Amino acid sequence: MKHIIIGTAGHVDHGKTTLVRAMTGVDTDRLKEEKERGISIELGFAPLTLPSGQRAGLVDVPGHERFIKHMLAGVAGIDLVLLVIAADEGVMPQTREHLDIVQLLNVKKGIVVITKKDLVEEDWLYLVEEEVREALKDTFLAEAPMIAVSAVTGEGLSELLHIIDRLVADVTEKAVDGKTRLPIDRVFSIAGFGTVVTGTLFSGQLKVGDPVEILPEGISTRVRTLQVHGHKVDRAVAGQRVAVNLASVETSELARGSVLLEPNYLSSSFRVDAHLELLRHLAAPLKNLARIRFHQGTKEALGRVVLLDRDELAPGESSYVQLVMEEPVVVARYDRFVIRSYSPMVTIGGGTVIDPNPPKRKRFREDVLRALATQEQGTPIELVNQHLLTTRPPIISVSLLTEKLGLQTEIIKNALRELVESGQAVLINVDGSEHAIHQQVLDNWWSEVQSLLANYHHEYPLRTGLPREELRSKKFGAVPAKTFNALLQFWEERGLVRATGRNVSLAGHQPAPQGKMAQALEHVLVRYRVGGFQPPDWSEMVQDCALSNSESEELLNYCLEQGLLVKVSEDTFFASTAIEEAKRKLTQFLKDHGAIQIGEVRDLLETSRRYVLPLMEYFDREKFTRRVGDKRVLLK
Ligand code: GDP
Ligand code: MG
Repeated sequence: MKHIIIGTAGHVDHGKTTLVRAMTGVDTDRLKEEKERGISIELGFAPLTLPSGQRAGLVDVPGHERFIKHMLAGVAGIDLVLLVIAADEGVMPQTREHLDIVQLLNVKKGIVVITKKDLVEEDWLYLVEEEVREALKDTFLAEAPMIAVSAVTGEGLSELLHIIDRLVADVTEKAVDGKTRLPIDRVFSIAGFGTVVTGTLFSGQLKVGDPVEILPEGISTRVRTLQVHGHKVDRAVAGQRVAVNLASVETSELARGSVLLEPNYLSSSFRVDAHLELLRHLAAPLKNLARIRFHQGTKEALGRVVLLDRDELAPGESSYVQLVMEEPVVVARYDRFVIRSYSPMVTIGGGTVIDPNPPKRKRFREDVLRALATQEQGTPIELVNQHLLTTRPPIISVSLLTEKLGLQTEIIKNALRELVESGQAVLINVDGSEHAIHQQVLDNWWSEVQSLLANYHHEYPLRTGLPREELRSKKFGAVPAKTFNALLQFWEERGLVRATGRNVSLAGHQPAPQGKMAQALEHVLVRYRVGGFQPPDWSEMVQDCALSNSESEELLNYCLEQGLLVKVSEDTFFASTAIEEAKRKLTQFLKDHGAIQIGEVRDLLETSRRYVLPLMEYFDREKFTRRVGDKRVLLK
């Protein structure tokens, strides 16, 4: 299941919290009180189950909001925004500012929800919808679905959930394979546990016991326990809301805006090189060295903008800048950020981080500007690396990769060669065409397959392995069959799995009955071997050994798969030793006599007609014998 975070946005009192409560039953305003009394971990957060069964986390903008910085912290990392506009008031200043912010942060999808439908007449609603469309044109929500609802009458709510479902279906998931990063939005302590931090896992994953680093404080610690949606878990992945209990850290050492990271991933910095866009509708230009508030993830930092190629940036324009902070920030290449003016506090623009840790830059320098332009694009190696980490499905043919990145084949091939040599990528031949996959993705896949197979072997110790198709549909549904086969072959060649046309197992796995089943097997083999050409009925085995339906099925499958018993007809089984002996005797007889009648077979094997007929039909099917009139001859 995808991990999706949905956020609300919109003017105060337009009905965001009421809408969240109507959809989830959770009162996020009450959570705030609970938080103040230290009961609830999740501020403004409500789990939502969609009609399809897909779950999502809903983050509500905190109530009675005057400080957009809380909204910014909440919006960091959302996949889908619900822009809430009350039908009786229409578009208001905060509606526009929230819209600017989600747009600047590159939130890709959204739904416009007109609330309080019950308060207005049909004609009025129509006019408000017109006004909203007008306000949204030229924004990423221009074509977004719009729906009018009432939390009071319930009208429109179920349709809204279906629309959310539809949009969620094509949200691209966050990079679970990437490096671990969790922007911290709350720090508190729980008696007996110590320090807990919460946030939305922005990329990568976290496991209990993982060593982690917290910047900019520079604290090294360890994940003691993890919670997702109030439940203890061993592992959390990108896109999930997580509460992390940290070993030996004091709450006073941390604050909202700190970032929890896998060690040696990012560093903190007072300077950031960026591409900055100024909002179009501003009244005044941005002057060099203007004091601003920088917002990224859950962090707000004061700083100044150094315009690198001009003295003022006009509304609607963009340029390269160096942001010089008054306190360290922790950002990554390509991060989106928002800036607000120092006073009054309004959102004025935003952009993309190009260099998260640059030297001090001189202004009006051609070489600096050119270097930033190249860096903004990224080197081919970085581009390929990044693409391999984010493309879905995460294995891609070299030709498609070339096409997607719009670079020359040679350049892509060289970049891939370097990535392969440095252990970051792997090339796999899929039906004659070379495919690339990121090493982390492959490792991840392998550990999932490994644990899936180990569990299967544990659950079904008598089976050779997991049916190939089941593995494919469980883990590789998005991958073409040929690619799946190539992956299996790749692991098989490395001695990790054994794959037959039907089953896949861990390389060392041998099906082996234990305990009751081992005794039952022994009984079965003795009875069938002693029975010889007059084998017992399977139902007797079930009775003798008191087997349940599933035990009976498992044991019989095992005997057949291992070739201990041979299925001769729907309900007749012979020990394989008996089949071999019958073949020997028949071969001898037919060499001497050329052909044999059913009656003669019965006498030869000292058995009865009941067994002879299915046995000879089995031999015909197996192309050991052939029927000629009322006799059998050897086929070869
Ligand atoms: P928020 O600030 O956007 O979270 O707004 P709230 O959810 O707190 O709602 C503000 C006020 O509008 C509350 O008094 C709600 O009861 C009221 N309200 C919210 N949705 C509706 C609605 O659909 N119809 C009516 N009549 N009132 C609503
Ligand atoms: Mg509210």
